[in-house]
Amino acid sequence: MERPLINLLGMNKQALEAFLLEIGEKPFRAVQLHKWMHQQGVIDFDQMTNISKPLRERLKTLAEIRPPRLRDTYSAQDGCHKWIVEVESGSGVEMVYIPEAGRGTLCISSQAGCSLDCSFCATGKQGFNSDLTAAEIIGQLWLANRELGGFVSHEARPITNVVMMGMGEPLLNFDNVVGAVALMMDDNAYGLSKRRVTISTSGVVPGIRRLRDFTDASLALSLHAPNDALRDQIVPINRKYPIRELLDSVRDYLAALPDSRVATIEYILIAGVNDHRAHARELAELLRTLPCKINLIPFNPFEGSEYARSSNSAIANFRKLLQDAGYTVTIRTTRGDEIGAACGQLVGQVDDRTRRSARHLAERARNEALNEVRVVTLS
Ligand code: SAH
Ligand code: SF4
Repeated sequence: MERPLINLLGMNKQALEAFLLEIGEKPFRAVQLHKWMHQQGVIDFDQMTNISKPLRERLKTLAEIRPPRLRDTYSAQDGCHKWIVEVESGSGVEMVYIPEAGRGTLCISSQAGCSLDCSFCATGKQGFNSDLTAAEIIGQLWLANRELGGFVSHEARPITNVVMMGMGEPLLNFDNVVGAVALMMDDNAYGLSKRRVTISTSGVVPGIRRLRDFTDASLALSLHAPNDALRDQIVPINRKYPIRELLDSVRDYLAALPDSRVATIEYILIAGVNDHRAHARELAELLRTLPCKINLIPFNPFEGSEYARSSNSAIANFRKLLQDAGYTVTIRTTRGDEIGAACGQLVGQVDDRTRRSARHLAERARNEALNEVRVVTLS
């Protein structure tokens, strides 16, 4: 039986050198291959002119360079793009490009769906299908770079920042995520600054604790609530890893970094749920000893969700309270609205293996029947 070809696209330096050694080649060829794949966008071995013909022929019998397929492209008036990327499991995941003055941010996915079921998140509502491979994660950057002309012009780089804030929980797909992140920061690949590659997590504490041994990328924490009682409800993984443990792990990660860096605390603002002044005061107190900045994200509605976005005055008050307490606070503006590219609206085309969507619908119908009102108490 013929052996399947090995996909080289997702291999970082270590992995590619190991592969080359295994086939009896010199490991320095990893640099050449990386430059071809990730700087020139070349995926055809025959075009790799500084690699000898016999080696190219040999590589063709053992390996391939296969980015994922682009299924759909949506472009918004404000310059944002959303792409649906097809992954091996058959699902479509989403990535979003957001151009701003002086920088371009690519928001990429780490999983098809998500198992963590945060109450406000469209991705979570559709359940989990599969982890993306390292090739599928870095492949998103490769595809976006190709689409934006980044392999042609090297002067103006279209993508300067990558955030893992698309679909899925990056730290539940740890190995593939840290492998791909290494490639993003490798000077022979994309050469992004470690400050400009951000892993966003909803609070997988063992993953945060392992992270320092593998990367020094920036960290964003999706906190969304200032106390365990409320966070248990809207970010269910909090029941496993409560806030105190979580903040300790983030503090330790920052302390292990060679430079001084702050974590980004993400806090979604949902009307009547977590946007009261008392929540802002409690948050200010909670974060007092953590080096951080706070990013407020007005809730983005999606079909089937029972939440609403906080009013502009509630958002402004929340921000002011935190600023007065000494924090740097930004409010995430909604971009790419008309193409469904905003945070939390990413649904892709995922076939839920957990059948969560069906369960949710049944649950919602039951709750509606009982006319259940969920009351969130302020502590
Ligand atoms: N699983 C990771 C990364 C993906 S979610 C995490 O939770 O951090 C990326 C960001 O989008 C998170 O901060 C998340 O809380 C936010 N988000 C999810 N649903 C949203 C919604 N409906 N409106 C606004 N932001 C949302
Ligand atoms: Fe998963 Fe993040 Fe959405 Fe929560 S917010 S369900 S962790 S993708």
